[in-house]
Amino acid sequence: MALPVITIDGPAGAGKSTVAKRVATSLGLTYLDTGAMYRAVTLLAQRTGVDVNDDLLLKRLAEDISLKLTGGRVYLNGEDVSEDIRKPEVSDKVSFVARQRSVREIMTKLQREMASNGGVVLDGRDMGSVVFPSADYKIFLTASVEERARRRHAELEQKGIIVSFDEVKHNIIARDKIDSEREVAPLRVPEGAYILDTTGLTIDEVVQEIVRKCRID
Ligand code: C5P
Repeated sequence: MALPVITIDGPAGAGKSTVAKRVATSLGLTYLDTGAMYRAVTLLAQRTGVDVNDDLLLKRLAEDISLKLTGGRVYLNGEDVSEDIRKPEVSDKVSFVARQRSVREIMTKLQREMASNGGVVLDGRDMGSVVFPSADYKIFLTASVEERARRRHAELEQKGIIVSFDEVKHNIIARDKIDSEREVAPLRVPEGAYILDTTGLTIDEVVQEIVRKCRID
């Protein structure tokens, strides 16, 4: 049997990356963080002074970019940018970059190439709806805004990134709005996805539920 493709989509801070990583480890698959790809393009745009609304210049940037996601690290043109892409200034702008059609086309192609042999768990916003509509398993993770902001705030604190709870919450709400309302590949529940509301659940419970689902079906 071919190795499976598992997609995990959902709004910001729903716990997708933590859960996807653990599901991948548990099932012996590779984890791919597609949000990190959009963050890396955003970081490069900021460093080179490219406007996050300039589709043409962003397209040129994205076309020439070298992105490697390996060993839990993110490499942009050979440089480890794993920490830099989590900074608030990138979080504030990433949804503007991600709504550009040309950037999405280039990232979608890269994601399909990276997953061409199967055996991957991908997390993002459009994995099950647009990039891999015929994935073997599609999960949609969600949770209340308060809970998502709490989790994201704690995660950032742990990484030494100091930012207020309100700022985190505001960023989550703003990103969800842009991600859901954009024209190309908006955030939505993919057809046939298994919806899991993680409010009040522990990470262990969520991981177990997804692993169980992917083993039984
Ligand atoms: O997953 P993360 O929160 O790091 O994603 C950052 C941003 O990248 C999202 O808010 C969204 O704008 C964009 N994104 C996307 N499609 C994906 C993954 C992320 O548009 N598949």
